[in-house]
Amino acid sequence: MWTSEEELTLREDLIQKVIACANEGDGTLTRSALGKFKYAGEEVRLIDPQGGIWNPRAPWGPGMEFTATLSINTTNSGKYEDQEMSGGLWRYDYQSGGSAGKNTKLRKAMEFQLPLLWFKQQENGKYIPYRVFIISDYPEEEYCLIAPERELASVARSESEIERRYAERIMKQRLHQPAFRAKVLAAYETKCAVCRINHGRLLDAAHIIPDSDESSTTSVTNGLSLCKIHHTAYDINIVGIDSEYRIHIRNDLMEEIDGPMLEHGFKGADNTELWLPRHVSAQPSPDLLSRRFLEFQAQAEVI
Ligand SMILES: [Zn+2]
Repeated sequence: MWTSEEELTLREDLIQKVIACANEGDGTLTRSALGKFKYAGEEVRLIDPQGGIWNPRAPWGPGMEFTATLSINTTNSGKYEDQEMSGGLWRYDYQSGGSAGKNTKLRKAMEFQLPLLWFKQQENGKYIPYRVFIISDYPEEEYCLIAPERELASVARSESEIERRYAERIMKQRLHQPAFRAKVLAAYETKCAVCRINHGRLLDAAHIIPDSDESSTTSVTNGLSLCKIHHTAYDINIVGIDSEYRIHIRNDLMEEIDGPMLEHGFKGADNTELWLPRHVSAQPSPDLLSRRFLEFQAQAEVI
């Protein structure tokens, strides 16, 4: 038999490795990859073959059975009413047929405050893995509420409106940012639009109109797949992109002499064309680029 601490340690490690594996690419995994995930020298099934709730038999031998559900998933089929609730929490419906059966172990995840994996299917059919907790349980109505963190979920119920809004904003970000990243990186074939580096762990989905701006959207046309250094450079207007998809590097950097990153990563990218998604509908909006490019030009004039 393993102890509850051992189970918690293994769960946390497994969850972290699943998320890291997804982030090697665009942040998603296929259902078939989730059926044979390589962990600790074994192929482990992480998702129920048909349903939503996965309670695996002891994958690492007798006595090492999970106390609670390991994963839940939400597909695009719309059969269940899983949906985002106010406060940034997500509703997850029990498997139909009451609070017993597979749902018993789901409810144990709340009782023992154990993290579990939630796989949320995206438009392209692949799944984003999230680490979640069951925050509240409604056995009579046959559903529970899930959130990325217990502490945040309790702040979401605070009496202070400021605290509630803060928690809601953070939880929404935690839910929506991976979905935006997945959409944008997939459109750009997991490459930086400026330097074309092809390593998911080095890439972000940048907003053209920043999400601090009220008119910002999570549409793929407001996104750019950028490596971490070009993302920061775009955010602080060292790199500008005009509405004809041409890259501009701020003049003072063009005059600097330095090592290979400045020479190739910046000066070499000046006046080249952006790497674009193949599908025109996923390409960045020229209107949004031109709005944002004004900021780059204004900054360049000051320097
Ligand atoms: Zn780059």
